[in-house]
Parts: sequence; C-alpha cells; structure tokens
Amino acid sequence: MYFDSGFYFKCNDCGHDDEYLFGIGFLFSSLENVIDLLPKKKWQAANDLYKNNKEAKFTYDGYEVYQCEKCASVQNTFLVEARDKNNTLLFSSVNNCGRCRKSRKKIVHTEKKIKNFKCPKCKSTNLSYKEGIMWD
Ligand SMILES: [Zn+2]
Ligand SMILES: [Zn+2]
Repeated sequence: MYFDSGFYFKCNDCGHDDEYLFGIGFLFSSLENVIDLLPKKKWQAANDLYKNNKEAKFTYDGYEVYQCEKCASVQNTFLVEARDKNNTLLFSSVNNCGRCRKSRKKIVHTEKKIKNFKCPKCKSTNLSYKEGIMWD
C-alpha cells in the first residue's frame, strides 16, 4: 500500500511529535476494498449495512487527519461513511472524540503542512513540520 503523502510534526512547546498520513493507496480502487480495510468491529457494522441495507449510501475518502476542536485529540484514518436517504449518518470510520463526545473535524492541508492544526498534547500551534516518510 502506498500513500500520496505524509508529514512529520514536532511541537516547539512541549516536544510532542508524530507522523500522519494523507492520501489514497491503490487499495482504494473500490468501496469493497475500502470496507475491507476497516478494523474488525467497524468492518462488521459496515459490511452488514452494505449487504443488508439497500438504503445505505456509502462514500469514502483517503487518509486524512481528524481533530477534536475542543481537546485536540487526533484520529488519522481513511473515511468510510454510510448515510440513509434522509442523510442520517448510519456509519462512519471516524470516531467521535472519546473524551468530549464531539465529532472530530477534518483538517485542511497542503502537501507538506496542515492548517489550523493544534498539538494534540498541549494545543499549541507553534509547530515545526517536515515532509514525512512515504510508505509502500
Ligand atoms: Zn505540544
Ligand atoms: Zn475532544
């Protein structure tokens, strides 16, 4: 599996560092493939909807960073979402923040830097970025 890009950041205030992935690998060629990439519990829920719920409309997207606006906790994952005909969310691979119970927001980014991103540890925006490793 490859990713289009990734980056590394380090917080200049608390020293926390991490790497995130962006992009879509070749496994994202079909919805079935993307569903198969889900962790087991999520896979069961998504697969059940996909097979049994004719009203479920699926969409998917590559790896993105999702951050809680309140406590800055991060989930770096790909998106699989299912909605019914009233646009009610039936399933999402992005979790709500476990602490705040709020939905995480997708972070806007360029290839090397993400905008409006806060250190997940101390919420500082004083961060250094480096281009990340390419996985394959
Ligand atoms: Zn920090
Ligand atoms: Zn939170």
